[in-house]
Amino acid sequence: MEEKGTISIHTENIFPIIKKFLYSDHEIFLRELVSNAVDATQKLKRLSSLGEIKNELGDLTVEVSFDEKEKTITILDKGIGMTAEEIKKYINQIAFSGAEEFVEKFKDAKDANEIIGKFGLGFYSAFMVAEKVEINSLSYLESATAAKWVCDGSTEFEISDSDKTSRGTEIKLFINEESSEFLAKARLEGILKKYCKFLPVEIKFGTAEESVPDGKDKDGNTQYKTVTKDNIINNTKPLWTVAPSELKDEDYLSFYRELYPFSEDPLFWIHLNVDYPFNLTGILYFPKVKNDFEVQKNKIQLYSRQVFITDEVKDVVPEFLMLLHGVLDSPDIPLNVSRSFLQADSNVKKINSHVTKKVADKLNELFKKDRKGYEEKWDNIGLFVEYGMISDDKFYEKAKDFALLKNDEEKYFTLEEYKEKVAPNQTDKDKKLVYLYATDLGKQDAYIQSAKKRSYDVLVMDRILDNHFINMLEQKLENTTLVRVDADTVNKLIDKDEKVESVLSEKEENRLKEVFEKAIDKKDIVLSMQALSPDEMPVTITLPEFMRRMKDMAATGGGG
Ligand code: ADP
Ligand code: MG
Repeated sequence: MEEKGTISIHTENIFPIIKKFLYSDHEIFLRELVSNAVDATQKLKRLSSLGEIKNELGDLTVEVSFDEKEKTITILDKGIGMTAEEIKKYINQIAFSGAEEFVEKFKDAKDANEIIGKFGLGFYSAFMVAEKVEINSLSYLESATAAKWVCDGSTEFEISDSDKTSRGTEIKLFINEESSEFLAKARLEGILKKYCKFLPVEIKFGTAEESVPDGKDKDGNTQYKTVTKDNIINNTKPLWTVAPSELKDEDYLSFYRELYPFSEDPLFWIHLNVDYPFNLTGILYFPKVKNDFEVQKNKIQLYSRQVFITDEVKDVVPEFLMLLHGVLDSPDIPLNVSRSFLQADSNVKKINSHVTKKVADKLNELFKKDRKGYEEKWDNIGLFVEYGMISDDKFYEKAKDFALLKNDEEKYFTLEEYKEKVAPNQTDKDKKLVYLYATDLGKQDAYIQSAKKRSYDVLVMDRILDNHFINMLEQKLENTTLVRVDADTVNKLIDKDEKVESVLSEKEENRLKEVFEKAIDKKDIVLSMQALSPDEMPVTITLPEFMRRMKDMAATGGGG
């Protein structure tokens, strides 16, 4: 049989369009073809489990190889294969997705949505790097004859009988001149490791040598020999696909180490497992971060049915959670994404608020179950929580119950607890609550000690975001102001009617003031006298609170 025909599309030639606009990243072709091979294999397994295939399925490994001389890359699977009719139907009709039809057919079957493809343009991404593509396929159907399809990237194709004798599909790409970078082992392996590391069917790329124990010599020392093994790219059952009830802490930690070698162990994690109203699995880890925004963002990896999509998760998780690590997997995230598409996608928005909610719930649970353990982690978690409270009102509403304030004695209080603690002694004459805080326990020690002498409590606010956090607290907390402990003399920090007795006489104070005023430039600062007892500083030099905040805001970029 031989047949010639024209690919059914309405545009004159779609290939230039595909090359330019489909994916900006040409390396994606391999992800698309390998995920098609995996889909075809999963479909075969599915049919087999439904009793539609009687024979043993045999080895189902997908193989990727290349030939530098011939300038080809080949993707071979042992999946369901295609008849000539199916090739015409599924491959020729651009944007007609066979996967969609398959899912429709088996939509009540449990695993039907394990099929990756949805969009119907994936196969054609091959033409971003190939001047010619050849398909050889033998369908699993008993009466099927093998078919061969060749297309040179124009709208013309040729279909004929093939001599393929084993079930499945072989796709051979004749790599074009500009894409010769892909004809290199390291490059291909890198792409496979990036996109296919967690695909559910084994993917083989050449062989690898490994040293294995080989008995002992006469002194009892272990001997080693080198063996050649299949180089399997992927872990077919990544942790997030396993039920949380089957997993131990150690499993989560070793998966973390697999994702981020050389990183310090995380503090804790959240295993997400949602199937309504959208599908989402994943594991989010809280890394150890203290006061350090050097932590890399974009460490969360986004997958769609175990195929890597991107590690730019800007639209999928809120900004403050981008500091988390881990993986998210949702078949509802479009595989063929462009960034603007992600932003506009309504599932993505739902995922975003769901992740936020889950994180808040987990923190709340930790707080409730183990207050002490939670407090120990607070120095690390606090940054996320404060960032979240500042940037996300919904998160604030949840976090206000488990956010902690820490005082200079390393005691921790919820917002409510703290209010109760300081209200009796730190309410000023206008009935306003005054919270004192220090930003630098060392430099401000003298001020802290003076405040404590008056039984005032002093909070520690030394995080990078604390300027913003303080402003936010003042807006959110009723009738409360926060004042830095060195903002004024301790006598004036909390404005009360009572008169404070200084140890210096008025005459002594005035003389001291003169001496200091001569010695320093008095612009922008306030010089004031204070001394409740002889061991205290008699004079303080301060910046008015308003001026200081202006300066702080400028230093950290302002906003909030
Ligand atoms: P999608 O995967 O989104 O359906 P593709 O353009 O990647 O779109 O593939 C189109 C269709 O071609 C697939 O749905 C499938 O029916 C068929 N196909 C592609 N590759 C294979 C393969 N290796 N084995 C069997 N069928 C395949
Ligand atoms: Mg596909």
